[in-house]
Parts: sequence; structure tokens; C-alpha cells
Amino acid sequence: MKAIIANQPGGAEQLAVTERPKPEPNQNELLIKIKAAAVNRTDIINRQSESGYLNIPILGVEVAGIVEQAGTETTIQPGTRVMGLVNGGGYAEYAVMPANRAMKIPENLSFEQAAAIPEVFLTAYQTLFWHGRLAESEKVLIHAGGSGVGTAAIQLAKQISNAQVLTTAGSQEKLDFTKSLGADVCINYKEQTFDDDVLQSTENHGADVILDFIGASYWRKNMNSIAVDGRWILIGMLGGAQLEEVSLWELMSKRIQLTGTLLTPRDDQYKADLTAEFVSKALPLFKYEKVRPIVDQIFSFNEVQQAHEHMEGNKNIGKIILKVD
Ligand code: NAP
Repeated sequence: MKAIIANQPGGAEQLAVTERPKPEPNQNELLIKIKAAAVNRTDIINRQSESGYLNIPILGVEVAGIVEQAGTETTIQPGTRVMGLVNGGGYAEYAVMPANRAMKIPENLSFEQAAAIPEVFLTAYQTLFWHGRLAESEKVLIHAGGSGVGTAAIQLAKQISNAQVLTTAGSQEKLDFTKSLGADVCINYKEQTFDDDVLQSTENHGADVILDFIGASYWRKNMNSIAVDGRWILIGMLGGAQLEEVSLWELMSKRIQLTGTLLTPRDDQYKADLTAEFVSKALPLFKYEKVRPIVDQIFSFNEVQQAHEHMEGNKNIGKIILKVD
């Protein structure tokens, strides 16, 4: 089968289409004929990493396609349209997926739309509701509002918790889009100091939950923005990992719960439990079109280098998809 690998650790030019053996499912797995895969920042880190971050030889952590073969212990029938997380190997014509991670694709969605769901919506669901414990009508600050995870989180926070959603992004186009998804307060972090806006828009209460993709460069302003008893969920470090000065006093006095998390290295059972809860609580929202996958652009399999460069240029709003023919 055709598969995409990085020849050496490095830039997008290292990505190449090559031939690899078709994987074989065990008794608890499905063999998926992939129709679409999506690009994630984790693929970029994996591509760049000397040690092959996560040790994934074929890139790609999420796919949508058709079940070609089902392991003997599974109940999903061949021919079923499914989407879900895979343990690497998503940029290929075929991949194996643990059956307890497969989600049936709602009939109203294409494969390209379905591939835009698993990683970012599961991450958004997990961080908002499991780690962040976002409650009805609370205030949530979602950074990188135009990102894949950001666009998913804005919709879930509105639809499931009716939260007041405050979001940041770096262009008017992205802010307008977040508004169209239901964000209440949209802040251009390049022109405004977001902590002032958060406090003003929440009558000095601050954000009960912060989804932080940015890390070090936002530390000070996040500290100013968070409410007493706030939950601060660190899920990315686009603005750096090293802090010069941290006041533990502020963490303690505001009773802040700071949680760092990474979904990809989680074990199979965790991902299966998260998928099961997402299927029951969030997937129906897609069927009734209360929530939608956000597809920024679809690239062909051979255009994978351009797809990675598009993400690294911060150009996308929502997800970048690789179509697999
Ligand atoms: P994405 O679609 O590529 O969007 C990222 C956006 O972040 C960029 O388009 C850019 O938008 C903004 N950004 C980039 N650098 C920035 C900086 N230094 N300061 C402020 N904003 C910056 O990303 P994604 O796939 O949704 O992923 C978002 C983040 O979540 C990534 O860091 C990813 O690694 C992480 N993630 C974590 C988990 C986990 O389990 N922990 C799972 C999935 C994703 P602007 O134009 O607005 O600047």
C-alpha cells in the first residue's frame, strides 16, 4: 500500500510517499480502507523528531474510511463507515484501528468531514469536560480560537455547557469565524491585551476554565485572566515551554488547578473510554447539525508537504485533510 513517511527528521520536504506492507488486524482490531486522514501538530513534531516522537514510522493519528476486515472479537461489520484515532499509520491507504475506538460516521457527513473530527473533538471534549469540569454557564477562555482544537472547543462549550466563550486569535478573519461558531468575546491577541478584555467581559470574575495551547508566552496574562478556583488546562506550547519566573503564591492564593495533558500517548483503554463517552454525549450533535466539523482545506495524498507547510504557516481555520484515493 501507499504510505507517507519522513525520510529523515526535518522539514516538510522530508515527507515522501512510499510503499509499505498492508497492516493486519488482530482479533480486537479493524482494518480500515482509508478515505481521508487529517493533519495534526503531533505529526509535525513526529516528522521533526530525531527519536521519531512516539516511534510512529508512518505518520497520522486519525482517519475516516470503510471497514475492510474485522477482527474475530469485534462486532462492527465490514463495509461500515467509521472514523477514529489510530496508533500511528493514518497517512496510508490502510490502517488498523482498535475496534473500541471506531465511531460510526453520521450519514450527513462525508469522509473528509469525518476525518476532521476525532483528534480535535476528542481533545476538546476531554479537556473541557474531564479535566476542566466546565459547568453550565461558566466562563471559558479558549486560545487559538481558529485552530482545529479551538474551533471544536468553542462549539462544544456552547452546545453542551452553554458557557460564556471568550477566545483569542491572531487575525480578524479567524475572529469572525469564531464568532460564527458562537464565541461571545473574540479578542485579537496581536492588538489587544487579552487579560484586560477577559476581566472586563466577565465583570472581573475571570475565566473558570482556560484551554491553553500557547504556554510560556501567555503565562502572565493567563494568570491575570483566571478566576479563583479556575481550571487551567495546558495542552500545547506554541508560545514556548520555559518560564523565567513563576509565582507559586498566585497559584495557591487563587486556588488554581493547573493540569497538563497529552492525548496521543494515552493508553488504549483511556482512548476507548473517551471515545465511548463522546459517542453518547457529543456525536448526536453532529447528526442534528448543532455542531459541525470544520474543514479548512483538502489536499491530495501527494500534496502532503504543502499540507504540513499550510499548518506550520498558521494559515488554517479548522482542519487540514489529506484525501486518500
Ligand atoms: P492548528 O489548527 O494548527 O492551529 C494552531 C493555531 O495556533 C495557529 O493557526 C495560530 O493561530 C495559533 N498560534 C500558533 N503559534 C502561536 C503563538 N506563539 N501564540 C499564539 N497563537 C499561536 O492547531 P491544532 O491542531 O488545533 O492544535 C492546537 C494545539 O493543541 C497544538 O499545540 C497541538 O499540539 C495541541 N494539541 C494538544 C493535544 C493534547 O492532547 N495535549 C491534542 C491535540 C492538539 P493564530 O493565527 O490565531 O495565531
